[in-house]
Amino acid sequence: MTVRLQGIPYDAHSSFLRGPALAPDAIREAFTCGSANYTTELGVEVDPSKGTWTDLGNLELTDDVELAVEHIRNASVVAMADGSRILSLGGDHLVTWPVVQAVSATTSRLTIVHFDAHPDLYDELDGDRYSHACPFARIMEAGLADRLIQIGIRTMTAHQQEQAERFGVEVLHYREWDGLVPDVDGDVYVSIDVDALDPAFAPGVSHFEPGGMTVREIVDALHQIGASGARVLGADVVEVNPERDVHGLTAMVGAKLMRELLGLLTTT
Ligand code: MN
Ligand code: MN
Repeated sequence: MTVRLQGIPYDAHSSFLRGPALAPDAIREAFTCGSANYTTELGVEVDPSKGTWTDLGNLELTDDVELAVEHIRNASVVAMADGSRILSLGGDHLVTWPVVQAVSATTSRLTIVHFDAHPDLYDELDGDRYSHACPFARIMEAGLADRLIQIGIRTMTAHQQEQAERFGVEVLHYREWDGLVPDVDGDVYVSIDVDALDPAFAPGVSHFEPGGMTVREIVDALHQIGASGARVLGADVVEVNPERDVHGLTAMVGAKLMRELLGLLTTT
């Protein structure tokens, strides 16, 4: 299966810090820097020269959020028009909403598996419905996904708990997670906010939320999704903030997740 990669350098509606707009280039640089090979843990070859995926480069976006959302959605529709799968490098978590608009239009039933410290289910944050704290409210109120499974959550608020119940979200609170991804089959979208990870593993994020996941747990969860019979139509890695990174460590985590996601997207 062919995969198209797009960089989405957008962070204008981050609520706390900007910086994730720099992430697509930082993750690509880590991916191709020569320190690691291009074979996934499961033995899938994702060497960029092999033609199983192509990099469309970065979208050209201004801070205007309505234009950005429209452009991201349209670019994603075009990228998938020939049946290709799609991998996006954010950008902050807002970018997932317009990408999922495009992915949802290609299937009658979509399951989203979302890794994050935060549920991102606010109806609005500080009056902003386009905040990176809101994309899964926008996705679920529009009926873009039939199932939303959230893994790594450790910042649930009363408002977001109400939203989770309203939308029927399957929230796997990290404090009680058993390491197992619920059975998923059919068409799946995977969204990874790297702040799902403990800041010890991913210090280059805007919102440190200690007490988080290991890289091992996320990679194992991706492999479970791959073994479940699901078709992974799309995925993203968001919220890497190079301005907060230490020795490029988080960019390399992004590159590792990119490699494993390319494996999932090309083989499921
Ligand atoms: Mn998020
Ligand atoms: Mn988060």
